[in-house]
Amino acid sequence: MTSPSVLIQNLHTFGLPIYAERVVTAESSEQLVDVWQQAKQQQYPLLLLGEGSNMLFLEDFSGWIVLNRIKGIKISESENFWHLHVGAGENWHQLVRYSLEQNLGGLENLALIPGCAGSAPIQNIGAYGVELKDVCEYVDLLNLDTGDIARIAAQDCQFGYRESIFKHQFREGYSIVSVGLKLAKQWKPVLNYGDLRQLDPQTVTPMQVFDAVCAMRSSKLPDPKVTGNAGSFFKNPIVSAEIAAQILQQFPNAPHYPQIDGQEKLAAGWLIDACQLKGYRIGGAAVHQQQALVLINQDHATSHDVVALASYVRKQVAERFNVWLEPEVRFIGKFGERNAIEVLA
Ligand code: NAP
Repeated sequence: MTSPSVLIQNLHTFGLPIYAERVVTAESSEQLVDVWQQAKQQQYPLLLLGEGSNMLFLEDFSGWIVLNRIKGIKISESENFWHLHVGAGENWHQLVRYSLEQNLGGLENLALIPGCAGSAPIQNIGAYGVELKDVCEYVDLLNLDTGDIARIAAQDCQFGYRESIFKHQFREGYSIVSVGLKLAKQWKPVLNYGDLRQLDPQTVTPMQVFDAVCAMRSSKLPDPKVTGNAGSFFKNPIVSAEIAAQILQQFPNAPHYPQIDGQEKLAAGWLIDACQLKGYRIGGAAVHQQQALVLINQDHATSHDVVALASYVRKQVAERFNVWLEPEVRFIGKFGERNAIEVLA
């Protein structure tokens, strides 16, 4: 086998100098099935990619990459809801903007999240108190072996915190081809987070929430077009009430959010910051100055730099707080996805 020769630096938001064997664009389910079968016949692993906004490539990828670019947005209505049927390859932020331009509120808190609509259910993307699961009606899933498309109702997607069935049972051999969203005609703003609390729920419009979210995100988060990154690198840890109490005894300022099951969510960014790691650098990779939860490609970083930095951050936080952070970003090795915790251990 020759070494991979197609540079994919621009196909993932970390912007690392990674090569793959081949890159193919698919604009329909038929094309996806076709590429899948060709890759299988030629014994290449196949990686489905949206905009690569939640991926860390650990090394060159000895397989094919297929970019899901299935487009189209259809809007229909029922008595109480607007229904959007969205092609998996639509850009998420443009979809949010488009829905607001059509006077449909509901997606504004999810503005500026990088990536495609079809990737949103995999992660159950979330920001500022709204998650995809709150607006998702269904996901259309293509079986790449048979070409059949099944409609999975939102309640069957096993949505959790940055979790879904698409990371488990439907990870291999399937592709999301479209997503159904359901937005209540009676719009209710969600204003529990950060600067959104300052908005007046009686008079605020979806567009004003959108603008506030864009302003907050732009001030704290690096633009991947300028500085490579994959958003939050780690998940916020959910710990038992006892562990949270131990941490709070020592660090009374630590942000903590009670969960319905009695556990507590801690802010991973705060834990990293408390270890004085903002700006900490290994090789070309660094902890972002404005938001410690984001690891950045500051200056020609390699995968090795990012892994070394993530591993260091994780160990520092564990040493100080006895909490092991789990990556939110997905790690891709030579032949496909790897277990991120094993890679960092
Ligand atoms: P932040 O306001 O500095 O808050 C830190 C963490 O505390 C957040 O991650 C959030 O958890 C939690 N939090 C804050 N207010 C909360 C509340 N009222 N109730 C419950 N939990 C609360 O966070 P940030 O970094 O600027 O991010 C703001 C939002 O954008 C968050 O929802 C975050 O998840 C989202 N975001 C996601 C990514 C990504 O790549 N996945 C990147 C940037 C921002 P949650 O994360 O559970 O909401």
